[in-house]
Amino acid sequence: QETVYAIASGKGGVGKTTTTVNLGTALAEAGKRVAVVDADLGMANLGGFVSLSPDSTTLHDVLAGDASVDDATYRLAENIVAVPSGTSLDDYAETSPEGLREVVADLRSRFDYVFLDVGAGVSHETVLPLGLADSVVLVSTPEPAAVHDTKKTVELTDRSGGAVAGLVLTRTRPDSDISHTEIADRLEVSLLGTIPEDPAARDSVYAGTPLVVFEPHGPAAVAYRRLAAELTGVD
Ligand code: ADP
Ligand code: MG
Repeated sequence: QETVYAIASGKGGVGKTTTTVNLGTALAEAGKRVAVVDADLGMANLGGFVSLSPDSTTLHDVLAGDASVDDATYRLAENIVAVPSGTSLDDYAETSPEGLREVVADLRSRFDYVFLDVGAGVSHETVLPLGLADSVVLVSTPEPAAVHDTKKTVELTDRSGGAVAGLVLTRTRPDSDISHTEIADRLEVSLLGTIPEDPAARDSVYAGTPLVVFEPHGPAAVAYRRLAAELTGVD
């Protein structure tokens, strides 16, 4: 069974963190035990959903060998925890992404689902999680530049021995003149779902609350719940 998902993109700012947090929360609401991990070591994002102080233990401490995974695990809501990264560049400089392998193995044994919020781009620390996950969820907006960069993530996944689950198109608009299935076809992956443009996405970040909780009946929240069911079969 596939339990570890990497949420990945070529381009940054396309909705990876939003997707990670909301897929995780949707499954937690369905009664599954979920861990979400800031695998974007250079640009930590999940910290926005937990109250961390500057000396809180983070994934960086775990990767530096100074803490256990448990020490860097924070409860987000019922059934869901986050493993955030540190936010300082000094922390980042001391980490070795290789340790992520053990972190994933540990979480895999204790949670029903693990979501890795992967950094954009093509660096080593981006590629590593693609191979550690059972399945890679590609995230892109319909913008041609973002779709183009997604091709590289597909290639990197292949090279790292990973498997692509499919594509999630985010921030879609009803007036779009490009067909969403055509975008997926062009990338030779299946279209897992589309998440419409929804101002509640941004508002939820400021509120520090996942979208599916912040505005549970809004269009993006509904789409994320449907996506969670499509991806895992959990309803
Ligand atoms: P990434 O992790 O890929 O960098 P984020 O998840 O942080 O991307 O999203 C980037 C920005 O886009 C954030 O401001 C977020 O609130 C916004 N956003 C994400 N999804 C949507 C959506 N469906 N509708 C509107 N804004 C969105
Ligand atoms: Mg992010």
